Amino acid sequence: MLVLTLSACTKQAPDSRIIITNAKVYTLNWQDPDLEGNPHSSAPFSDGSWMPDAEAIVIEGNSILFVGDESTALTYQTSSSQMVDAQGGTIIPGLVDSHAHPYYFGEDLGKIDLTGLDNKQAIIDRLIEKQDESTAAGDWILGFGYDEGAMSTELLPTAEDLSQAFPDRPVFIIGTHGFTAVANYEAMKRAGITSETVSPVGGEIMKDTDGNPNGIFTNNAAELVEETLPARTAKDFRRIALHGMEVMAESGYTAFHDAGTNRDYLNAYQELEAEGISPVRVYAMLQATDSTLLKEWMKRGPETETGELFTVRAVKAYYDGSLGIRGAKLLDDYSDMPGHLGISGEDYGFDESLVQDMMEAGFQLGIHAIGDAGNRDMLNFYDRVFDENPEIRLNRHRIEHAQVVHPEDFGRFADLELIASMEPPHMAEDMGWAEDRLGSERIQGAYAWRTFRRNGVPLTFNSDLTGSDHNFFYGYYAAITRKNKDRRPNGGWYPEQALSPEEALRAYTSWSAYAAFQEDVLGTIEVGKRADLTILSIDVLNIGEQNPDSLWNGKILGTIVDGRLVFNGVKN
Ligand SMILES: [Zn+2]
Repeated sequence: MLVLTLSACTKQAPDSRIIITNAKVYTLNWQDPDLEGNPHSSAPFSDGSWMPDAEAIVIEGNSILFVGDESTALTYQTSSSQMVDAQGGTIIPGLVDSHAHPYYFGEDLGKIDLTGLDNKQAIIDRLIEKQDESTAAGDWILGFGYDEGAMSTELLPTAEDLSQAFPDRPVFIIGTHGFTAVANYEAMKRAGITSETVSPVGGEIMKDTDGNPNGIFTNNAAELVEETLPARTAKDFRRIALHGMEVMAESGYTAFHDAGTNRDYLNAYQELEAEGISPVRVYAMLQATDSTLLKEWMKRGPETETGELFTVRAVKAYYDGSLGIRGAKLLDDYSDMPGHLGISGEDYGFDESLVQDMMEAGFQLGIHAIGDAGNRDMLNFYDRVFDENPEIRLNRHRIEHAQVVHPEDFGRFADLELIASMEPPHMAEDMGWAEDRLGSERIQGAYAWRTFRRNGVPLTFNSDLTGSDHNFFYGYYAAITRKNKDRRPNGGWYPEQALSPEEALRAYTSWSAYAAFQEDVLGTIEVGKRADLTILSIDVLNIGEQNPDSLWNGKILGTIVDGRLVFNGVKN
C-alpha cells in the first residue's frame, strides 16, 4: 500500500516541506527523443528498458526543492516535514490535458440521475424519492439519463403521468442521448407549449389522439422547454467549473487547457483561483465567438506570467466541422458522399479579422481545423498574418485536431512554427469509419502523429473532453499501439503512425507545458519548478515498451498541484 498522509486540498504553510521517498521518479529532465522516437543518449534508457532517474522528491511550498536519491532527500527533513512513502509508485511530471471542456461534467449537477432506468414507474419513483436534490433550476424538477435504447416513445411516461406525481412543480426529464425528453403540464405551461405550437426543424412535439401535446419532445424540440429554464447564476457556474476541475484532478491531471472559455467560466476560474481552492491549473483559451469578451482582453493583453494557477493567454476559434458528420472541409469530395466538401469559415463562426487582432495583441491562437482543406486554409491564414507581422510567429500558435493533412502540408506546420494539438482517442474512436470518409490515400495523412514528428512539428496530446474519454491510460495506450479500447486491431491501425512511450508521455507533459509557454515552470521534475506531479500505480514507460495491454491496469494514486495533494487515490 502506498502511504499518502497529506490531507487533500489544504494549503501547506509556506515553509513546510513534503518529502516523498521510495518512488520511481521519471523526471523527463533529459533531451527529447529523436524524430523516430529513439531516446536521446542522455535518457535513462538502455537495451529497451527505462531506469527511473530519481527515487525521492522534496517539495517546499509550491516548488521542488530537491529531486534525487533518498538519503540526500532525508537530510532536508525538519520537525514539521510531512513524510510520504510512495511504496514504489511511479512519479511523473503532472499530466496535462491540453484541449478539454471539463465543465460539461458538471452540466448535470443538481439534476436527478435516471441512468439505467428503463420503465415509467421506476422513473417516477426516482423523481419522487430524489425531488429535493433537484436544485439546478429554481423549483424545476430536472432528470437526465433514462435508458433511451430500451424505451421507445410509447414506453415513456407522458405529461399526464408526470403531472399526477407532480401537479404543481414543473418537471422535465431527458434521455441518455437527448433524442427524447418529457415535460409535465406545468413545465409545458411555463414554456408556452400548446396544441398550436409548431414543431421546430429537427424535432417533434408529440401529440395525443386529440392533437394536444402529450409531453414528449424529440431531438431539437426539447429546446423549446430548455430555453425557459431559469438562467444559471454565477454560483452555478462556479460549482460546475469546480466539479470539472475535481474530476480532472481525480484523473491524474494537474492542468488542462480550456479550449473555449466563455465569460461565465472565466469568472468562475478567477474566483476559485483568488480563493486559493483551484484543484488544478487552467490555461484558458478565450472563446472567439464572444467578440465582446475578446475586445476586452485585447485591451488588457495576454497574461504572460507563468506558474499561475489560472492564465488567460490564448484564443480558441473554429474553422470547420467534424469528420464524422462530414462537416470537416476537404480538398476533394468525401469518399462516401460525392459532391460534398464539408463546411467552413464564416459559416462556422470564424471571424478572421477579430482573430488576427487578438494575435496582434499577443495572444496565442488555437484554431480548430479537421479536414485537409480546413488545415490548408488555416496554414494560409497563418502564413499571411506572419508575413504582415513576423513577430506574431513567435507566439506558438496551434492547430487544434490537425486531423487530416495533405502530404504537402506537414512541412508547412514546421515552417510556420505551429503546434499540432491532437487526440489519440479520436484515432481510436474514428478508425471504424474514417477511411470511408477519406478513402485509402487521404487516410495516410489522418491522425498522422509520426509524420508530424518527422517533419519536426511540436505535438501536444489531449482528449477533447467530453467528446472523448480523458482516461490517461487510454490516450497513452492508443498513442503507442494505434489500438482502440477493445485492444483492436491486432498490430494497430496504421501502426507506422504510433509514437514511442516516451514521446506519448511527453505529449501529455513536457510538450503540453511548451504548448502553454510553461516549460520554465512545468513539464519536468526539476529543482525550482512548480511541484505538479502525478503518481501512477505502474511504470508506464517500461510497460509501454514491453507489454502495452497491461496499461489498462494502471491507476492514479495521487495528484499534486502547486505543492498540494489535490487527489489521494489510495485513501480508501
Ligand atoms: Zn474541443
